Amino acid sequence: MKKQQLACPSATNSSGASLFGVVNVHGVVSFLPEKVELTEELIELGNQSGSAESKFRYTSKCVESGCNQWTGSACGVIHQLKELDLSEMEQKVQRCPIKNECRWFFQEGISACKICPLFVADFLEKGEGKMETAV
Ligand code: SF4
Repeated sequence: MKKQQLACPSATNSSGASLFGVVNVHGVVSFLPEKVELTEELIELGNQSGSAESKFRYTSKCVESGCNQWTGSACGVIHQLKELDLSEMEQKVQRCPIKNECRWFFQEGISACKICPLFVADFLEKGEGKMETAV
């Protein structure tokens, strides 16, 4: 049986990726009804006024061992996020357009979806090279 190709839920604003979430006025990600494939124009628009990854969520193919976050058997990002004490900040689970293909959902189930909207994709570059929430 062919292995399912999973999607990275914390991709960058780049060619081949799709937009699927927007950081709302409360600093939490609201997911779009459907993902939107990026065009050159959308990539440029995303880069206006600061880092696109601090305002939007993007998805692209999970490249597994081709990514620095791959542990050898899984995505390490969601493991790191789950180690943070976020229980008081957990979000109501939203309908998400990439749920059927999401790497984090595949690994962690619905518990990933409760904290996922709190993060943007550039969190790993912030602080001391660690994570930062969108809120
Ligand atoms: S963890 Fe859940 S909410 Fe976040 S992108 Fe994956 S399926 Fe969507």
